[in-house]
Amino acid sequence: MTSVKSWGNYPDFPQSSFPVLWQDSLQATQAVAIDTQGHTLAIGQARSYGDSCLAVSDRVLEMRPLRRFVSADWEKGQIIAEAGVTLEELLRVCLPRGWFVPVTPGTRFATLGGCVANDVHGKNHHVRGTFGHHVLSFGLHRSDRGYQECSLATHPELFAATIGGLGLTGVLLWVKVQLMPVSSSTLTVKQQRFANLDEFFALSTQLDHEHEYAVAWVDCLAKGEALGRGVYLAANHATTEFAAPTFTLKKPREFPAFPSFSWVNAPSVKLFNGAYWHKYPKTLTEVSQGISEYFYPLDHIAHWNRMYGKRGFQQYQCVIPESVAPVVIREILKSISDFGQASFLAVLKRCGDAASPGMLSFPMRGTSLALDFPQSGELDAQLFPWLDRLVHESGGRLYPAKDAHMSGESFRLAYPEWQQVERLRDPQLLSRFWQRILPES
Ligand SMILES: Cc1cc2nc3c(=O)[nH]c(=O)nc-3n(C[C@H](O)[C@H](O)[C@H](O)COP(=O)(O)OP(=O)(O)OC[C@H]3O[C@@H](n4cnc5c(N)ncnc54)[C@H](O)[C@@H]3O)c2cc1C
Repeated sequence: MTSVKSWGNYPDFPQSSFPVLWQDSLQATQAVAIDTQGHTLAIGQARSYGDSCLAVSDRVLEMRPLRRFVSADWEKGQIIAEAGVTLEELLRVCLPRGWFVPVTPGTRFATLGGCVANDVHGKNHHVRGTFGHHVLSFGLHRSDRGYQECSLATHPELFAATIGGLGLTGVLLWVKVQLMPVSSSTLTVKQQRFANLDEFFALSTQLDHEHEYAVAWVDCLAKGEALGRGVYLAANHATTEFAAPTFTLKKPREFPAFPSFSWVNAPSVKLFNGAYWHKYPKTLTEVSQGISEYFYPLDHIAHWNRMYGKRGFQQYQCVIPESVAPVVIREILKSISDFGQASFLAVLKRCGDAASPGMLSFPMRGTSLALDFPQSGELDAQLFPWLDRLVHESGGRLYPAKDAHMSGESFRLAYPEWQQVERLRDPQLLSRFWQRILPES
């Protein structure tokens, strides 16, 4: 048994983990893992930031040992793999054969189970929707109904509740994914720095639709005329490379043990953000990048989350509906900048209009903003309540995979299908997040 925390190291509820070694040993392991109240939760690589991957019992089913490939059809680009397989492991197998994951989050260490349960999105939401759009079927084990194979045709309600269902509707054993053909493992990336938020929206409107991927980094400490300045990065898979695509990785550097204080503060972020912004060209410039450089820059430093110190950090990720996004994102950035709260990694993404296949999927047509903050009492007492109000009044919502603070009322208003998921919840599965957002009975 090992002890696990979520990626933000906040809230501080270390989990005892019970490894599931084989698909048919799940039931026996689950019987040992549940606490006296009868609760546990599946966990993948704990790359969720807040408490959605933490069991209310603090006793989790560790799914990583289920990492076997079951079968593949390389003609159709369809693969069946156990739920503990990571995106990196998947890419090692499929990329040399000319197939890529159609949707990837910003870390290659997420498992298939985690990608389904959070219905993750990537830099190409405007083209391909969420991960769940490419899931053909999965095997689910429920403590009350046993094994269920789910797809759009078989158990469609359970299928929709499980995609983005936060691991509450059963334990995923395997997932069948439709991959995407690619001609190259390099990307042709267009980069340009922009001077303010208006320029971001102009660039994104002009260029997103010509590119498979688009994302922007924002300097959240910039003020006045420069509010929302940042760097726009759009990319397509290159078409010029004739050799079979490959996946090469440098061994990640390791962030040393937890410092006693957070390295992330206003002076360090100001220095970093200024230097980073100036590094990028003023006009649109094309460069060539590899898969890990473009998609997974943060994975180059193992345990980078330690730089926030032992108190950890919270990520605030919201999506604001299209019609009001320019105004509301400006107001959010202004509030953060005025508050003096520093975040290295403010990421802006436009989401497309593909209706998500999951009942609790996060993306909606609009603009998503994600920022990391060192944990402090002021966040929960002052900044977040104000930001939550702006998000709520705009008709937007927060991303449960990143969340450690939203109120039950906000969640239930933003995700009206929560009741269907609660009705379909496996009675033995309960997370700290879900307990936090359920109405008091
Ligand atoms: C650097 C970084 C960048 C990221 N970028 C993005 C991004 O761009 N887009 C995005 O959407 N997310 C992003 N994320 C979040 C991350 O992709 C998701 O939180 C993902 O779900 C993590 O996968 P995991 O295997 O670590 O799952 P965990 O965090 O361990 O678990 C996530 C959820 O999945 C459930 N779960 C896990 N395995 C199973 C299973 N076998 N059966 C049933 N339920 C299961 C858990 O109960 C939990 O509810 C990022 C995270 C990091 C650290």
